[in-house]
Amino acid sequence: MDSTFDRSRLRDADLLREDLFIDGVWTPGSSGERTDVLDPATGTVIARMAAATEADVLRAVDTAAAAAPAWARMTAPDRSRVMRRWYELIVASADDLAAILTAEQGKPFAEARGEILYGAGFVEWYAEECKRTYGDVIPSNVAGRRLLTVRQPVGVSASITPWNFPSAMILRKAGPALAAGCPMIIKPAEETPLSATALAELGARAGIPAGVLSVVAGTPAMIGEILTSHPTVRALSFTGSTEVGKLLMAQSARTVKKVALELGGNAPLIVFDDADLDAAVTGAMASKFRNAGQTCVCANRIIVQSGIHDAFVERLQTAVEALTVGNGFEEKSEQGPLISQAAVEKVERHIEDAVAGGATVRAGGARHPLGQTFFEPTLLTGVRPDMLIAREETFGPVAPVIAFDTEDEAVAIANDTPFGLAGYFFSTDLARMWRVGEALEFGVVGVNTGLISYEGAPFGGVKESGLGREGSRHGIDEFTELKYLCVDGLAG
Ligand code: ADP
Repeated sequence: MDSTFDRSRLRDADLLREDLFIDGVWTPGSSGERTDVLDPATGTVIARMAAATEADVLRAVDTAAAAAPAWARMTAPDRSRVMRRWYELIVASADDLAAILTAEQGKPFAEARGEILYGAGFVEWYAEECKRTYGDVIPSNVAGRRLLTVRQPVGVSASITPWNFPSAMILRKAGPALAAGCPMIIKPAEETPLSATALAELGARAGIPAGVLSVVAGTPAMIGEILTSHPTVRALSFTGSTEVGKLLMAQSARTVKKVALELGGNAPLIVFDDADLDAAVTGAMASKFRNAGQTCVCANRIIVQSGIHDAFVERLQTAVEALTVGNGFEEKSEQGPLISQAAVEKVERHIEDAVAGGATVRAGGARHPLGQTFFEPTLLTGVRPDMLIAREETFGPVAPVIAFDTEDEAVAIANDTPFGLAGYFFSTDLARMWRVGEALEFGVVGVNTGLISYEGAPFGGVKESGLGREGSRHGIDEFTELKYLCVDGLAG
């Protein structure tokens, strides 16, 4: 393996895996083909990831099916112990996993480490929830009958995940799947396969049986076609673009799979006149600039009431200008590179369109002098809801500010989108918190905060942002079937 990954960054170099993981074994795949994995900060090749063929993917499905019955039969406490070991290994390897993540994704190391621990939280949480997948005993309508429900694993599951949270998006799916008793086939994003393989290596060390967790990488459309058409795969959990989500949902219809979809967002962040200004600025910065603005819950439209507008913009500008841009491995970096040139070009298109329509650049607005995929943290004012930047997800470090006058106007602007993942607002008025909290058509609403993710709370979208929930006791529903047992002949 002649990759240029700087292995001296790793305490445990065996976590760096460039092969597929099928049936508990590392394999280069049946074609021997590989694809380059790039460091987005430098453009250098850091690894050459094996590409699966159709035969490899089919083998992953078959071996998952073979492993499913024993994994499902294992008692909940036993499954829980294996998952707990996985959690502990992930936490113990957090620095190495974060180094791999920063190398292939670009985000600052501290943020990458935060993602690892956040993702690990799902494994820990579901290792416990595993023991609580209760059924019911229902009062009977007929003498001599007992009515029961049990929750059973759906069977082999598959996940397709994006590059923006290459570790956490996998653990958020694998945690509940494994807890429910389902094997999972992981297809990571082509940009970031190394976080996936490192997690699989730790899973094997934790004692997850062969076939229960596998990783296949390669041509997305081919792998997606097999995973959605194969009758053995019973559940698909996808995080990514709305476009691909719709395609996978349609493909899954052929075999009526359970589908969980976490798709695009277009998050509003509303600042009302009565907001706590410090909290609003801190919340907007955290929501907007984390991961260089490349998250599906990033504030995409900052909607600010006229009375507080100028004071808010002034404070936000100071905060935006203070952000340090740099390589994720440099300690002072708060904002890393974007994932690709295409991502930079989309940001530029959105800024150009806004400026052509009359918006003002208050900070940044251009590529960063560091070059490559680095972009300046940017603040725009005078943005209108009909501009491209307010209609599409920018997925970059640009904060567009839209001004409004009344509460009704703000809610109307916020809801005027086909998406409905996360929304935020800042207010100190209790009645308004309830009113606006209930009026926003989003699956997750942050009130007076820009950070809402937690494994114990349900995450997911409404409208075209998705189906199903991740995290919390609801997350395991995506991987279980509710069976009703009607037992008669008990009279006498
Ligand atoms: P993004 O714009 O964030 O890259 P995508 O939806 O394109 O979002 O990618 C998310 C995941 O979906 C990635 O793992 C990618 O490889 C995968 N993907 C993209 N196209 C397809 C497809 N046609 N079938 C299955 N998976 C796909």
